[in-house]
Amino acid sequence: MTSSKNALQAMAMALTSGGVRIVDLTQTLSPDFPALVLPPELGQCAPFRMEEVSRYDERGPAWYWNNITLSEHTGTHFDAPIHWVTGRDLPNNAVDSIPVERFIASAVVIDCSKQAAQNDDYELSVEDIEAWEALHGRVPRDAWVLLRTDWSKRKAIDYVNLRDDGPHTPGPSVAAIRFLVEERGILGLGTETIGTDIGQAAHQNPAYPAHHYLHGNGRYGLQCLCNLDQLPPTGTLLIAAPLKIKQGSGSPLRVLALVNAVR
Ligand code: MN
Repeated sequence: MTSSKNALQAMAMALTSGGVRIVDLTQTLSPDFPALVLPPELGQCAPFRMEEVSRYDERGPAWYWNNITLSEHTGTHFDAPIHWVTGRDLPNNAVDSIPVERFIASAVVIDCSKQAAQNDDYELSVEDIEAWEALHGRVPRDAWVLLRTDWSKRKAIDYVNLRDDGPHTPGPSVAAIRFLVEERGILGLGTETIGTDIGQAAHQNPAYPAHHYLHGNGRYGLQCLCNLDQLPPTGTLLIAAPLKIKQGSGSPLRVLALVNAVR
């Protein structure tokens, strides 16, 4: 018997016995869920739309189904390196070519919810990360870093938080995302907001630094996550497998977090 076989048997037993809990980090796809809005001169990503095909009626007497339309970047979704110009020429940079091993990985949670409650434009700093590491150890290589801001608890208008000068939402500073990518080698950054970047990221240098550095280094993004307040700082196993869209830049997906149940 191999040790890997033992590991999977132990995992199966932990799942059936309740020793491992599964937390759903996914927002429900519905027409009400806000989509990203860019300045009007730019192309726009489509919100979620659902059209009934039949519902046990003359259009289909025994079945119910819908046609849906949406953007690759609608609702809880995955960003692939090809999404950003810095990642356009990397190998395996689209959702259909990323190695599937990348879709199951460990995750750590950095809690900035108190700071974000005080400041809509809060930027995670290198000092925040170092303070987190002093308590929980070094951010592991090839792990997801999930940024808890409690933003997912906000209602639609406050969630997008659009003002005359654009959206105001928290995210990483330029130095913090560079540190996570270049010094810690993270797999990707997951946020509760619509983007991996702050709302005002057009004014950072470089603009949209999370997209710039993550995707330019073959790393990934997760956005519109929820229930991060139910995760421990370390020890989460994250399952985040995007749809296999040919040359897709991203995809809505179900994000599942496996955590040890508290006894
Ligand atoms: Mn996106």
